[in-house]
Amino acid sequence: MFSGRQFCRPRRRVFYIFVFFICNLLFVFLCISEWGYNDLPASELNKSSDHHLDYREFISHTPERPRDLYQYNLSLSDSLGVVRKLPTTRHYRCITQPYNLPPPFESNLSVVISFHNEARSMLLRTIVSLLIRTPEDYLHELIILDDGSEDVTLLDDLKRWMGSVFWARDHLGLILRRNPRRMGLIWSRNRGASLASGYYVLFLDSHCEVNEGWLEPLLERLALNPHLAVSPLLDPIDPTTLSYRKGSELLKGGFDWSLHFHWLKRQLANHEHPEMPYQSPVFAGGVLMMSREWFLKLGSFNSFLKIWGGESIELAIKLWLCGGQIEIVPCSRIGHIFRRRHAFDFPPQFDQELSSAQETYLHNSKIIAESWLDEYKNMFYALRPAARRIPLDHTYDEMQKLRRELQCHPFEWYLRHVSSELRMHFDELSATGTLRNEDRCLHATQNDTHLILANCYRGDITQWSMLGNSGQLANQREYCLGVGFRSQIILEPCGRNESTRKSQRWMRLGTQLLHAETHMCLDNPLKDRLEMSTCRSNAASQSFQFALEMERQT
Ligand code: UDP
Ligand code: MN
Repeated sequence: MFSGRQFCRPRRRVFYIFVFFICNLLFVFLCISEWGYNDLPASELNKSSDHHLDYREFISHTPERPRDLYQYNLSLSDSLGVVRKLPTTRHYRCITQPYNLPPPFESNLSVVISFHNEARSMLLRTIVSLLIRTPEDYLHELIILDDGSEDVTLLDDLKRWMGSVFWARDHLGLILRRNPRRMGLIWSRNRGASLASGYYVLFLDSHCEVNEGWLEPLLERLALNPHLAVSPLLDPIDPTTLSYRKGSELLKGGFDWSLHFHWLKRQLANHEHPEMPYQSPVFAGGVLMMSREWFLKLGSFNSFLKIWGGESIELAIKLWLCGGQIEIVPCSRIGHIFRRRHAFDFPPQFDQELSSAQETYLHNSKIIAESWLDEYKNMFYALRPAARRIPLDHTYDEMQKLRRELQCHPFEWYLRHVSSELRMHFDELSATGTLRNEDRCLHATQNDTHLILANCYRGDITQWSMLGNSGQLANQREYCLGVGFRSQIILEPCGRNESTRKSQRWMRLGTQLLHAETHMCLDNPLKDRLEMSTCRSNAASQSFQFALEMERQT
């Protein structure tokens, strides 16, 4: 009476439900086990002997800190996983072309990472991306220096985590050191390099993610020239969304006469492809790789520089002047979080009028100017008069000795052969620096909306540049002095075309500043007033002096 099919139906249903549950269970299990490791290769995990300190546990020990301590999205970083897939940002030809690599025994690499108060998840992602995307044969050692971070157990926990996940990499050297008190990036990186034993050394920030195939293009270039130093092309990681974007091949590193770093635009020459390595006046930020021996021979990072700042500009100048070169290699991509503000404090200094960050920057820049800029150091002092007051506790004998020993070129050579931008800026200036009327200086307020007369010695006093050809009077943020409706003095973005430039053109009558269009002079009739008025020769209120007149003008 009952067909076999009908008889079986309820049993089958149970069977399907059972299978459904098993599948779900399996799925949940896989999700949980993969959660922390994301696309960490199974081969690494299989080697793991014990998981007593897993990724989630490691980052859960991050101490409670104010939200803005790191200047990036901490909770997002914690939830991203220890390693993630990154978009391919290098040119497709970088992937297909073969690389001519030297054998590992004569080109292995020590990676130096110094960090101060880095979030655990961020630091770990930097390290793990490096471990899984670097050919094992070439990665000689990792040197990780904790520069006095507040998270005092981080380094020990890191050691345990690394031991449990990467224990099978027995030929990988792992040196973990902690400075009992904060010594600064410069000191720490030098210490890292002195502990290193690889052929090359790579200095890496602690909030990076290296992308696929980052090392091979750098190695190929370095093998061709022992005095070369290279930077990968840095792909920006957004501090808020942590999204990984493609960095531009049309930018190189440079600096201005205040010794501030800038990205400089470049153009491709005829037949030049965007993925080809190109020369750069300075490194792309602080990520650089070179022969360890050559680095030490150049005196490492200048050890008189304090904490942070100027060290890669100094290394770049001495490298170029003493027989080296710098290239950015676009086939090598490393992601780096470009933060909008410093994530750390500078130790307090002595000068009451300067913030400790300003004083550290002036101190370091003064050393660079005195050691390498020769007579061009006057440009620096004109733009940064406060640097003259900064005391230095050493002489420059050591640097002069190095310059003699390595037969380095004078700074003039750098302007001629390396940074035409810096030279052009020099050539087009007719006067520069602070603009003084009696004992006060013309100053643009922070957002460039107001002009006032202020104490010439305040740390952020505006530096002006008078351009010879256009007659424009520009500040560092490229705002120009102009005259608007009813002879009102205004600050506006410097014009690039003829018509906008017209209202920004000034001429010099002795120390007077004559506005070309209105034929009126800049005047300071009362203490805090600034206005345009009829030019009167010898009027003290119309006399404005630049800190530095370029020689050809006098
Ligand atoms: N750093 C350090 N000690 C310090 C200051 C900074 O070890 O006193 C580390 C910091 O954690 C980072 C690297 O130096 O890994 C570069 O600093 P940062 O990223 O702030 O410089 P930027 O990328 O903005 O040039
Ligand atoms: Mn950084």
